[in-house]
Amino acid sequence: MANLFRKSIHWFRRDLRVRDNQGLMAACEASEEVIPLYLLSDWSGDHSWTGPKRQNFLCQCLASLSKNISHLGGQLIIRQGRALQELETLITESGSEALFLNRDLDHFGRETENALKELCQRLGVAYHDYKDMVLHEPHEVLKGDGTSYRVYTPYSRPWLALEKPKPTGTPKKIQTPPEIATLPLPTLKTWDLEFDGEDVLTGGERAARDRMESALSGRLESYDDQRDIPSLLGTSRLSQDLRFGTISVRELYHKAKERASPQYLKELAWREFYFQILSHFPEVLTHEFKSDWRGLPWYEPDEKFTAWKTGQTGFPIIDAGIRELLATGFMHNRVRMIVAMFLTKDLHLDWRLGEQFFLQHLIDGEIASNNGGWQWSAGTGADAAPYFRIQNPWSQTKRYDPEGLYIRKWVPELAKAPARALYTAPEAGQSVAPGYPHPIVDHATERQVTLNIFKKHRAEQS
Ligand SMILES: Cc1cc2nc3c(=O)[nH]c(=O)nc-3n(C[C@H](O)[C@H](O)[C@H](O)COP(=O)(O)OP(=O)(O)OC[C@H]3O[C@@H](n4cnc5c(N)ncnc54)[C@H](O)[C@@H]3O)c2cc1C
Repeated sequence: MANLFRKSIHWFRRDLRVRDNQGLMAACEASEEVIPLYLLSDWSGDHSWTGPKRQNFLCQCLASLSKNISHLGGQLIIRQGRALQELETLITESGSEALFLNRDLDHFGRETENALKELCQRLGVAYHDYKDMVLHEPHEVLKGDGTSYRVYTPYSRPWLALEKPKPTGTPKKIQTPPEIATLPLPTLKTWDLEFDGEDVLTGGERAARDRMESALSGRLESYDDQRDIPSLLGTSRLSQDLRFGTISVRELYHKAKERASPQYLKELAWREFYFQILSHFPEVLTHEFKSDWRGLPWYEPDEKFTAWKTGQTGFPIIDAGIRELLATGFMHNRVRMIVAMFLTKDLHLDWRLGEQFFLQHLIDGEIASNNGGWQWSAGTGADAAPYFRIQNPWSQTKRYDPEGLYIRKWVPELAKAPARALYTAPEAGQSVAPGYPHPIVDHATERQVTLNIFKKHRAEQS
């Protein structure tokens, strides 16, 4: 495409970068002038799917995007409101001839894209969307009979074997038409939020690229040995950057192929496995993936849920995980699994409660992977842990944090407790250390309760 359009819009969504951005690159190549647009959502107060830490990170990503667009000669335009309405207004007021965007793979994104195609047709404006947020979209990796995979390993084989798209580059310049009105860059006040934790991770393309280079400068060669040890920086810590598109998954994949263990590429396939599950089975957001497990009699949330949410369960590894999340907006993957299984199998609470809590606190909170992780832990999801394989939080601690280094970092009351105490269930009525809560349940007892609940439910279904 060469200067097909006088004026176009590129609508940024989960692609907050100028480098190797398919839609932006195409818009710049095809247009004399480009309006780089970001639309802010217009809710305020609490939101069940996000929270201050993630919104704060988003603000930083947008500030960085704005700066990077300015360096290329353009201006990021910020508007707020419903996508369809705002885009119609901007197309009409600016006289844009084309709309460019990168596809969002969940059903919310698809619905918007379908409506936008119709809008563009009605307005006589060209519509161009691109694959950008994944290496392979859901329709590219299907079984021989054209249906979707439900199990990770058979999905991952063709996913790994398929040729991967190469990075594109960076636009040489972005020329934005003058006099397009814009709102200021957002702050947490935009949504009536306040930030209540440490500002641990910096958002934006520069910071994301630094994290990527740091991860790829040796660390990920020993990924297989270190990725399950929460006290080590043994993983890439790039999930929030993939979430907001401040790095390109194409660039990451090709660099990681040279510089990371092959297992790392398989983790990128997990991300896309869950995207394709959500895309093909959108009902997983409200229902158990495996229909046999719908209607399980979850307990009503009570003070034990409060103890879980505040890191006061008396189980050191659970409390460390939740406190890491509350302080930083991140939790190590191994600990996410232990904490999620504890909520569903030891407290018998609905995975949807944990799913929402994670989305409100995780900076990398992403509906497909989060739902996949929660349903995996609950035993109800695609390729989930079978219901009878219930992780024991004490033995998991002994295996993955034997010296208690991770626990001591996040639970200061346990700084002086001997390592053995951190992975041994105390006697009934005792706690792991003075001044630390008693365990809110007995794991062996609750494990049996879970087995009974699941077995009874299965019997009632047949
Ligand atoms: C209950 C639960 C909830 C989760 N919620 C989220 C979420 O909201 N957002 C999110 O990005 N990940 C989620 N995960 C997956 C995983 O925990 C994080 O992706 C990982 O901890 C991020 O750290 P990292 O970037 O260092 O990962 P690395 O180990 O370096 O992996 C590289 C990348 O691969 C992807 N990845 C790795 N493991 C998984 C996985 N199990 N599922 C899907 N993608 C994966 C991520 O994009 C990650 O950045 C969840 C897992 C569980 C068990």
